[in-house]
Amino acid sequence: MSIELKTEAEIEIMRQADLLVHRVLGELEQMVAPGVTTAQLNARAIEITKEAGAEAAFLNYPASSPSVAPFPGVICASVNEVIVHGIPNDVPMKEGDIISIDYGCCLNGFYGDAAKTVAVGAISEEAQRLLDVTEQALEDAIEQCRPGNRIGDISHAVQKRVEANGFGVVREFVGHGIGRSMHEPPHVPNFGSPGMGRVLRSGMVLAIEPMVTAGAYEAKVLEDGWSAVTRDGSLSAHFEHSVAITESGPYVLSRP
Ligand code: MG
Repeated sequence: MSIELKTEAEIEIMRQADLLVHRVLGELEQMVAPGVTTAQLNARAIEITKEAGAEAAFLNYPASSPSVAPFPGVICASVNEVIVHGIPNDVPMKEGDIISIDYGCCLNGFYGDAAKTVAVGAISEEAQRLLDVTEQALEDAIEQCRPGNRIGDISHAVQKRVEANGFGVVREFVGHGIGRSMHEPPHVPNFGSPGMGRVLRSGMVLAIEPMVTAGAYEAKVLEDGWSAVTRDGSLSAHFEHSVAITESGPYVLSRP
């Protein structure tokens, strides 16, 4: 499938969607504390989305299996061993937990998408290292977002950083192109070989999202049909930015 290239004007429209994503993630991060529920975070995300005149991108997203109900949240709230696609619920977060907050919206016809994993109160040194390495892996990947490089350069940058630190990269879920749809070609895996895959061109916009495990990288989906967890129960972290490829280098749309 062909990769849709965005004009500079379209990228600036996407920028507005992604700045809203940034704002939502920032506000929710401030709310995270022991005793707070992910349903409370979700409720606040609903309010901000509405005030901004945007549409929530994840709510009612169809499952790949017809036997699974569409996604019920406005955010994905993935605590501890949940890698991605956690459903917001009424379970209070506890001191020492980590939570990935993923939020996407559509504004003026274009989608924005980003995620970050944050600490609930004081966390273990190992959990902090997992967050730091995953965030750094995303920065390494962003650095590869230049015309003439390839998808494999992005993938390899993530894998190299993660594995050099003794962590695992999830295989089952990958980043993606984004634009007038939330998920567009190409796939952006977090593992791969440099110099392989599609050539990056100016005008591509990619949602790059390393999903990293403290233990083995194998994942499974829980009975709710959505929550992806580590098979060995180890902690997982997830950071995401939407990044435009431009002649002047990577343009991270989802941060100011
Ligand atoms: Mg995404």
